[in-house]
Amino acid sequence: MQGSLRRGPLACVSWLLLKNCRAHSRFPSSGCSSPERQQGHAVSKDFNSRLVTGPTFQHFLRSASAPSKKLSSPEAEDPPPYLTEDELLGRQRKVYFETYGCQMNVNDTEIAWSVLHKSGYLRTRNLQEADVILLVTCSIREKAEQTIWNRLLQLKALKTKRPRSRVPLKIGILVLKIQKVCFCASATSAWSIMRGCDNMCSYCIVPFTRGRERSRPVASILEEVKKLSEQGLKEVTLLGQNVNSFRDNSEVQFNSAVSTNLSRGFTTNYKSKQGGLRFAHLLDQVSRVDPEMRIRFTSPHPKDFPDEVLQLIHERDNICKQIHLPAQSGSSRVLEAMRRGYSREAYVNLVHHIRESIPGVSLSSDFIAGFCGETEDDHLQTVSLLREVQYNTGFLFAYSMRQKTRAYHRLQDDVPEKVKLRRLEELIAVFREEATKANETSVGCAQLVLVEGLSKRSATDLCGRNDGNLKVIFPCTELEDVSSPGLKVRAHPGDYVLVKITAASSQTLKGHALCRTTLKNSSADYCSEWMAPLH
Ligand code: SF4
Repeated sequence: MQGSLRRGPLACVSWLLLKNCRAHSRFPSSGCSSPERQQGHAVSKDFNSRLVTGPTFQHFLRSASAPSKKLSSPEAEDPPPYLTEDELLGRQRKVYFETYGCQMNVNDTEIAWSVLHKSGYLRTRNLQEADVILLVTCSIREKAEQTIWNRLLQLKALKTKRPRSRVPLKIGILVLKIQKVCFCASATSAWSIMRGCDNMCSYCIVPFTRGRERSRPVASILEEVKKLSEQGLKEVTLLGQNVNSFRDNSEVQFNSAVSTNLSRGFTTNYKSKQGGLRFAHLLDQVSRVDPEMRIRFTSPHPKDFPDEVLQLIHERDNICKQIHLPAQSGSSRVLEAMRRGYSREAYVNLVHHIRESIPGVSLSSDFIAGFCGETEDDHLQTVSLLREVQYNTGFLFAYSMRQKTRAYHRLQDDVPEKVKLRRLEELIAVFREEATKANETSVGCAQLVLVEGLSKRSATDLCGRNDGNLKVIFPCTELEDVSSPGLKVRAHPGDYVLVKITAASSQTLKGHALCRTTLKNSSADYCSEWMAPLH
């Protein structure tokens, strides 16, 4: 793993460690009357110009692998004049990460941490004791970018108040474009199996920031999952921008002329692809590694759910019955403008097909409010889709136009901000209402929960996730252990616990624990008296 960290892929990480918070030195003083947003834009401009000439992650790689030795790699660069190799050494300084965005960014944070750790840094979860603060982002959404600039303004105050007796506080932004990810933490782990996107949805900047789709070889993924299993990890999430578009072309014998099966009624923006080892094959292999290890995957594209994938999810006890199905809009007209490759009808048919193929499946989705040209009627169609599908989890955003995208060049961002926000609020309200109803169907059932740790709100409660990835809170009490009848135990992170659900909201389930069990036992007859229905 460390070897792979030092190789090429990380060369494309843009790294900015702002020595002594240089970017902030141009902030208006605290007495300045300019609005916060304007300050943010000023900093943004400053940041962008600095990014071009700033140090890269290679500087950290070099000091992480061999601080005193020069790399012969042509990619190795001399540190910029304001940042010496010596300064890059951690010397027990404490680094605090603040990660913005998706799970991919969380993973990338772990890579950055593993490198800094080797350079002698310590990690802290306490902002106040940090010597280095790193904000981690990929700036996919304009709102996320704005959040970073606003956060920098807050951190400036922390830096100013810092006592002179302490080492100066350094604040940096890590802008991510990492291609290969590997990390593990507690009982769960997430692994990048592919990166990039070929779909070119008109609103999306991902193909420009993450590049074209490329997948890792199946063999190397399996090797890593086996290692995680040996370490006792209980859950692996396979990650990718279009995770189910996975295609391993590294083995010549599988590069046949067999065309790719798409979900019925779905099309692509690119020429159809052929051959390679597909996602169904990977999922099959990964789920065979350890029957006690849960397998999740995110984020999929709805077009890549052929029957073989759905059947596998249904058949394998350890593949979670949870599917993220980003819809983005409930209007076929808007979907066409977004270049999503499906109509509302095709999407709804897919939802029905998935629910028939995987009874009890939990569904989540993404929606954008106020895309270019979205009328009130289009918006109401999205509202009706939320009601019709009744998702368990949702991620909803107001549209913000990004440069480079097709929409930027060809469409008008013509829905007023106020209207976008009003529509977003309406979507959120409907989503919550429907999700509560969907989650309430679990009340009275026993569900298998993988314990993550103590609840953040109460030291006497445990928190874990059910098969559908919903948070489940339950009191930490003594339990019967299914593997050792008569033995009373307390559940720990990494344990599977059967929990009887007693209450549900749009985001959380509550219940009480019935027994500690195993994934295999939970699907066997032993638990049938409690399990109606389990998933
Ligand atoms: S929104 Fe579209 S372009 Fe963006 S990552 Fe998803 S599939 Fe690719």
